[in-house]
Amino acid sequence: MVKCPLCTNVLIEPRYSISRRDNKTKICPECGELEALEDFLKAQNPRNVSENELADTYVNCCDCEDTFLASEGLYDSSDGRFTCVSCLD
Ligand SMILES: [Zn+2]
Ligand SMILES: [Zn+2]
Repeated sequence: MVKCPLCTNVLIEPRYSISRRDNKTKICPECGELEALEDFLKAQNPRNVSENELADTYVNCCDCEDTFLASEGLYDSSDGRFTCVSCLD
């Protein structure tokens, strides 16, 4: 059984992401999303962004354009867009 090295969740194949840190480590989709979000925010703001800061970062929803906390919505790493909880369903 393979576990995510970052959060120790069990990886259910083929639902895993490859870490952007070394391009080979298998991590869970949640951690993959977090890494993608971290990279996105670092690209926007070159200084170091910690996970705590991620939780405090406001972003705009791609659907309703509401501002919401990045940690409360969904970040799609494939198109780089944020969706707020109210637009998710
Ligand atoms: Zn994980
Ligand atoms: Zn929305």
